[in-house]
Amino acid sequence: MNTNILPAETDIVISGAGLTGLCLASLLARQQPSWNILLLQAAPPDDDSVTSRDAGFDHRQIVLAESSRRILSHMGLWSDIEQHTAAITEIRVSDRGHIGRSQLVALEQNLDAYGYVIDAAQLASLLSAAVDKLPNVQRSKVTNHFVLKPIANGIVLQEGSNSVHARLTVLANGTAPLAAQKLGIAFQCKDYGQCALTAELTLTKAHRGIAYERFTSSGPIALLPLPDLNDSPRAALVWTLPLPEAEDLLNADEDTFIERLYVRFGQRIGPVAAVARRVVVPLARTVATEQVRNHLLLMGSSAHSLHPVAGQGFNLTLRDIATLGEVLSGIAADDGNLGNLASLQLYEERRRADQARVVAFSDVLPAVFANNNAPLSIARNLALLGLDLAPGLRNAFARFGAGLSTREARFND
Ligand SMILES: Cc1cc2nc3c(=O)[nH]c(=O)nc-3n(C[C@H](O)[C@H](O)[C@H](O)COP(=O)(O)OP(=O)(O)OC[C@H]3O[C@@H](n4cnc5c(N)ncnc54)[C@H](O)[C@@H]3O)c2cc1C
Repeated sequence: MNTNILPAETDIVISGAGLTGLCLASLLARQQPSWNILLLQAAPPDDDSVTSRDAGFDHRQIVLAESSRRILSHMGLWSDIEQHTAAITEIRVSDRGHIGRSQLVALEQNLDAYGYVIDAAQLASLLSAAVDKLPNVQRSKVTNHFVLKPIANGIVLQEGSNSVHARLTVLANGTAPLAAQKLGIAFQCKDYGQCALTAELTLTKAHRGIAYERFTSSGPIALLPLPDLNDSPRAALVWTLPLPEAEDLLNADEDTFIERLYVRFGQRIGPVAAVARRVVVPLARTVATEQVRNHLLLMGSSAHSLHPVAGQGFNLTLRDIATLGEVLSGIAADDGNLGNLASLQLYEERRRADQARVVAFSDVLPAVFANNNAPLSIARNLALLGLDLAPGLRNAFARFGAGLSTREARFND
């Protein structure tokens, strides 16, 4: 049910119907059918129809890591999602102008794939359809002007004369939500001074499931396999570069764009036939200094928004969601403990190490690879050569990227 009226009372409020809010609603509603969940989506001020694009989805493509596939399978969602993905069966990492390069092959790590690429808006609409089938999830629209009022046994979310009381309120509104700032929650922000130019390429040769990560002096370029469209092979481009250069490329004609891509990336993917859906996204890292308070939790990019070079943001969030599900699974529907600080702190404690590792990795990778300083350049080439020469190191690196070096990775289909 989708309405603008808030119920007076509910068990859980999830504010934000992006990838995080949708996945969390889906998991908690299935896990405990007697919990009532209110999923709030942002209402554009002058428009009643919230499409996935209005709701914050640009044309980005998301790589779902193997750990995410396992979690989504466990939630019963993977079979619908899989047909819209392209599997990454091999990753080729290289450094422009240097000899270091590495080739990671999924089968060597006994994996079917390192990850699965899907259009974020497509994923959101699949998740949204799944949520709509759940009778204990109600949807409503709110503007960005709501406030949160902590009370003894929960939080009241108030928007104008409308208000709802919930025992657990999850903010999944995207980066640094206003409601959290109003509560005095601080965010550590780092501007990378760069942006990601994303685009879809139509290829003339099959991609064979190969993803490329190429480090250049101005930033990394990733090329990811996409599902074929009208029998044409396609790839998603994520090109990290300084804003002026990105804007130049955004406005360049197609031939110029392709020529410049060849200069930076080489012709390893064969001739590019067309470029579509160019978008520029500024790159910053924003991490909340507090993720939990009594009856309140920040999740998804509200909790941590990362540099996309390592493709880890949403994968990390899915592991957060899986852990929250586990922590809350011991709480019965009528148990007053839902949302209490002790259970939320237990969640936070279980997620601390994985979050810290992924935040650090996503931060360090672009800095190391965008730097032309000679010792660093030698070090990264040695690292890439090392990856190629040392199977143990390569396996560890690949398992990290696939999200399999964490306890949440144990979910099996
Ligand atoms: C270029 C790029 C590539 C990426 N690639 C990958 C990748 O390969 N793999 C990966 O794991 N991650 C990737 N990420 C990260 C991933 O996109 C994010 O982790 C993910 O989209 C975060 O989802 P979210 O729902 O937390 O936040 P958002 O997508 O920002 O959604 C927040 C939602 O909250 C809504 N909202 C805002 N205000 C309100 C309000 N007041 N009330 C209700 N709703 C509100 C918004 O409309 C939106 O629907 C990438 C990011 C970028 C920028």
